[in-house]
Amino acid sequence: MADAQYRTPKGTHDVLPEEQRYMTYIKKAVRHRARQAGYQRIDPPIFEKREIFERGIGQHTDIVEKELFLVSATNKDEGEKEFALRPEFTAGICRSYVEHAMQQLVQPVQLYAIGPCFRHDRPQKGRFRQFHQFNFELIGLRDPSLDAQLIQMVVKILQDLKILDRLTLQINNIGTSESRKAFLAALKDYFIGKERNLPELDQKRLAANPLRLLDSKEEDTQILLKSAPTMEQFMDSESRQYHETVLEYLEELGIKYNPNPGLVRGLDYYTQTVFEFWDQSTGAQNAVGGGGRYDGLIELLGGKPTPGIGFAGGMERVMWHMKEAGIDAPHKDQVDVFVAQLGPDAKKQCLTLISKLRDLGVHTVGALGEASLKSQMRHADRFGAKFTLLLGQMEVKEGTIILRDMAAGKQKQIKFKDAISEVVKLLGEKNLDKYTLHDHLGNLDQNVD
Ligand code: AMP
Repeated sequence: MADAQYRTPKGTHDVLPEEQRYMTYIKKAVRHRARQAGYQRIDPPIFEKREIFERGIGQHTDIVEKELFLVSATNKDEGEKEFALRPEFTAGICRSYVEHAMQQLVQPVQLYAIGPCFRHDRPQKGRFRQFHQFNFELIGLRDPSLDAQLIQMVVKILQDLKILDRLTLQINNIGTSESRKAFLAALKDYFIGKERNLPELDQKRLAANPLRLLDSKEEDTQILLKSAPTMEQFMDSESRQYHETVLEYLEELGIKYNPNPGLVRGLDYYTQTVFEFWDQSTGAQNAVGGGGRYDGLIELLGGKPTPGIGFAGGMERVMWHMKEAGIDAPHKDQVDVFVAQLGPDAKKQCLTLISKLRDLGVHTVGALGEASLKSQMRHADRFGAKFTLLLGQMEVKEGTIILRDMAAGKQKQIKFKDAISEVVKLLGEKNLDKYTLHDHLGNLDQNVD
């Protein structure tokens, strides 16, 4: 309501029913591809000790420095602002891997997560303070084929959702942490005496996290970078070989990519392969998703050295692309039958009728208020019901009911006891919304979503 007294906090939004159908559809695509590839679902808590994000993601990253939502407990014993809402999944999932000794399981451990994340960012188009990510992590094994397979799974999901052709895959290798250290030292050296020519934000980046200069949008910085040392010059031969093999595998899988030496991703934990899916028209801004290898992260979080690779996609941005491309999200929320009634006896009979229809898998809503039949029929129209069953005082007396086909605008009187079988026949047995988790043999029902 335009004049509502209370509104959602800045940068957040209600995911209303008309958007839920997209969210559900995206989740379905994610779950389907994840299951096919042997990923299992994990839900880390929405908040964690802030240290997990600070250590994992890095003190001098935007996410930690500026965007972390700190949680203060009213119970001061727990330490004020000791916790933070998760800005992403990877650090929490790696914490879980260590906590639950998952290194003892068969490696790699493949996990996926879907849910809200929080960043106290400046809200703008496509950038929210609460948004939803789908996320994959493959932990415990390191091989270029795994990098290519993860990228391929994401490509398949974006293809399933029919938005892949709006995006480009950007890929880079940022070397091992040792080779990066040498490169960053050289980069810092290069900028000695040139700091004043950098915009203020980039001066700060140079001091705290010089790697971020590479993806700076500032023109002055980009000009200076043209003659700066490049990561490529410092890349160790193993990383070089690794990268070439990843690209070779992507080609084998028929995946198009853009090599992008400027792609660094904003988080400290990345090593080697990094990749993002960019909007073809706006580029780095509003990327749909990104990921990379993080071979040092588990160790940072107290585990044994363990390689890993992950990806996170933004559901709001995927949804935006689907809407822009005119992709519909099929859903099962249609109303099949609207039950209208008049009089206390009719109302009583309708209660059971509605319940039986629902149990059979017919989506049924009923006007059980005191409105006139005319206004109930208007309701049926607005719900978009396929059929209306109408029970007035006369029909109760006669043991009949009126069945109206809303699209055809035709109605007929039928026996009350035949109402359910007639509706089921008209809708078709296969269109009923039956939800069975397992049959008695333990086979998974194909219709489960
Ligand atoms: P990142 O790891 O920061 O690249 O985030 C992965 C993906 O999450 C991005 O490509 C976006 O699709 C999505 N995302 C990140 N931050 C936001 C935000 N503030 N609002 C909406 N989506 C976001």
